Amino acid sequence: MVLGIETSCDETSAAVVKGGTRLLSNVISSQMDVHRKFGGVVPEVASRRHVERITLIMQKALEQAGVSIKDLDAIAVTQGPGLVGALLIGVSAAKALSFATGIPLVGVHHIAGHIYANHLVKPLEFPLVALVVSGGHTELIYMEGHNRYERLGRTRDDAAGEAFDKVARLMNLPYPGGPHIDRLAAQGNPGYDLPRAWLEADSLDFSFSGLKSAVMNLIHNASQRNEAIREADLAASFQEAVLDVLVEKSLRAVKRTGVKRLVLAGGVSANSGLRVRLHQRCAQEQIELLIPPLELCTDNAAMIASAGTYQYLDGNFAELSLNAEPNLSLV
Ligand code: ATP
Ligand code: MG
Ligand code: FE
Repeated sequence: MVLGIETSCDETSAAVVKGGTRLLSNVISSQMDVHRKFGGVVPEVASRRHVERITLIMQKALEQAGVSIKDLDAIAVTQGPGLVGALLIGVSAAKALSFATGIPLVGVHHIAGHIYANHLVKPLEFPLVALVVSGGHTELIYMEGHNRYERLGRTRDDAAGEAFDKVARLMNLPYPGGPHIDRLAAQGNPGYDLPRAWLEADSLDFSFSGLKSAVMNLIHNASQRNEAIREADLAASFQEAVLDVLVEKSLRAVKRTGVKRLVLAGGVSANSGLRVRLHQRCAQEQIELLIPPLELCTDNAAMIASAGTYQYLDGNFAELSLNAEPNLSLV
């Protein structure tokens, strides 16, 4: 039984997971309402909120799971990447609990967590390719087994979620913009012509900053000419440009590595267009596709507890000198 703790950004979360796959509790306290009025996450405000909530959230997670501290095999905490001040709150709480109880401590990479969200739905089978699409990451990862990560491709500039949020901001939609673009896109047609960054012919890397600039120019030019933007159509056009590249490169990665399964990870996995498109393409190509349910797509501690379980089983423990690593690398 592993207690997971996640405070890398603006969700304070604690969870209990049994055997790596069974979710016993997953308590998430979102700060979205606080940050919305600033149009993005304010690091200092996030840290302060985490401090206020973390103890209570940990207590609740144990309570809802019906377990006591002495039942725990390990305490798994997000070590990075993320906002350093935010990460430090989770890391300090985990270290304090580990020190007081003698329960082993495990430091987990946030993106490993996002991938392991799938493990709570159906046990991961290897080898696999994971498409990680979140607010800070867009990567294609190859996994040969538990705890074994190889990077096939990554974004060279903005992450997919970041592009959604920035374009939403240009369109005066509330933060975070991803879900708003998703909703608008469903009502529109992709009539605006926007670029897709395929990069070199065989590249599995991504780039979204050109697309963002194209949307910015389009909005600017329309306003200069006093023309109205067809909002739903613009959202649909932008979303399609992002999805074309994400879907195509994911399938390319699956074929190149010869694996039979693709898993989706990170907050942008919540995108309904992405879910539909991947389901269609994977069915055509007879690739097994795993997508987490919405509540496990965005930041939560259950995914951290799940990933941490396999580090614990590998004997990969952290010392009490464990520090938050804002730029921690997965591979
Ligand atoms: P990272 O995991 O890289 O550290 P993060 O934790 O901030 O970044 P997540 O919480 O995993 O990212 O995901 C948040 C992102 O997901 C935001 O950019 C948000 O706009 C995006 N997102 C959420 N729902 C949707 C959706 N339906 N369509 C598109 N994007 C979405
Ligand atoms: Mg978040
Ligand atoms: Fe995340």
